[in-house]
Amino acid sequence: MGTDNFIGGKFSPAGSGKTDEVINPATGEVIAKVASSDSIDVDAAVAAASDAFGEWSAKTPRERSEAMFALAKIIEDNVDELSEIEMRNVGKPKQIIGIEMDLSADNLRFFGGAARNMEGKAAGEYLADHTSYIRRDPLGVVAGIAPWNYPLNMAVWKFGPALATGNTIVLKPSELTPLSLLRFAELASEVLPPGVLNVVCGQGETAGDAIVRHKDIRLVSLTGDVNTGKLIARNAADTLKRVHLELGGKAPVIVFDDADIETLVTALAEGAYYNSGQDCTAPCRVIAGAKAFEKLVPALTDAVGAIAMGDPFDENTAMGPVISKDQQDRVAGMVSRAAESGAEVTVGGNTGAGAGFFYQPTVVVNPAQNSEIVQREVFGPVVSVQRFNDEAQALQWANGVDYGLSASVWTSDVGRAMRMSKALEFGCVWVNQHIMITSEMPHGGFKQSGYGKDMSSYALEHYTEAKHVMIKH
Ligand code: NAD
Repeated sequence: MGTDNFIGGKFSPAGSGKTDEVINPATGEVIAKVASSDSIDVDAAVAAASDAFGEWSAKTPRERSEAMFALAKIIEDNVDELSEIEMRNVGKPKQIIGIEMDLSADNLRFFGGAARNMEGKAAGEYLADHTSYIRRDPLGVVAGIAPWNYPLNMAVWKFGPALATGNTIVLKPSELTPLSLLRFAELASEVLPPGVLNVVCGQGETAGDAIVRHKDIRLVSLTGDVNTGKLIARNAADTLKRVHLELGGKAPVIVFDDADIETLVTALAEGAYYNSGQDCTAPCRVIAGAKAFEKLVPALTDAVGAIAMGDPFDENTAMGPVISKDQQDRVAGMVSRAAESGAEVTVGGNTGAGAGFFYQPTVVVNPAQNSEIVQREVFGPVVSVQRFNDEAQALQWANGVDYGLSASVWTSDVGRAMRMSKALEFGCVWVNQHIMITSEMPHGGFKQSGYGKDMSSYALEHYTEAKHVMIKH
């Protein structure tokens, strides 16, 4: 398996010769040593992407669309190998890995199709004797910086719209999880000309920072932590490159007394602990009416106690480890501080046995609205449950965090669902559902969850410039 950078269609080690260790979080073992890059390597990748831009941007939308379809097929043809890499590097259970592989392939087909159908104003004579029309031109070389929770899928959300609209790209995977993207880049070289898709591995402060400050990169798209987003927005300002930020979340799940609690409990036990809760849209912050609360807490406690945590390669495992020792410590610290400040841990609340970075599926009941467990993203297998007095308080608590990525409302009252959907300050609101996404619909935050949209035709717009051409008759 390739562990060097993938630049200009081939693997090459970091110029400095440095490497970073990559760890299997289920065992704590080192599974690879991967290039640890700096600005020399980023310069090389940008040069390769610049060289490739002319030919790639000159292709017709149909040709690029066919390439996107071929990349989707590459994922499907190599799904076992790519899945296994993701399972070993992220600790994803066999039970769930197929979902994100299928989504990645579907995302690519969507971007390939949608980029053939870009929209703009009608050409016309808006001034007498002058015809105006709109072009949507690619930006040039763009960059994507990915997190570790869905390594290949988050990279697809960057390079899919970028390449479909004629840009070339430099991608930096998380230093914790570079392996699936490196393998994909190698496989993709059957389809893409050299330099169209480049992968530079390494740390955020070195490789990532060199990308953010590079003057020839026109856009940087980050999926990551809120603080990383703020830093990148500041550091990108000197070159005035476009910044696209998909950041953290703290999704409220507002449950009214008329909700179907059984369906909700199933959705929470699956959705909140999916990927060990390391999902920016995870339904992690339940806010329930008094009657719903009474039924929900015991039912959720039982359902969460039954989640099978263990070896990702075991067919029966529903939840694997968290990504790292740091993440395990972070989750454990947040749960114990919640308990110390008066919340009740009804299930879980401990690390798992063994050398891997396991943390039990956990429910924390009755934390205060201003407590850390309610206000800050845990990014682990932990759900908090609060009890509200009325609809106004439910809404105030739901909106009362810095994040604004996603939310859900559980009720059988259509009018209330409509009212809440309008008033919730989140980029996605589900009703009687939480976590499903689809390629056609935008994904992105309000407030400190960032700006810009992934997926959908809105993503394609970010990767193009609208150009007005005016012709005098
Ligand atoms: P992170 O911010 O630590 O790292 C994300 C990426 O940024 C990594 O590749 C890292 O190397 C890079 N980076 C770090 N510092 C940098 C710098 N100074 N300059 C340039 N690059 C830098 O995030 P993470 O821990 O990998 O991922 C978890 C976070 O991602 C969570 O907050 C989660 O909510 C968020 N996330 C958001 C979405 C979304 O769609 N909104 C999706 C998935 C994950």
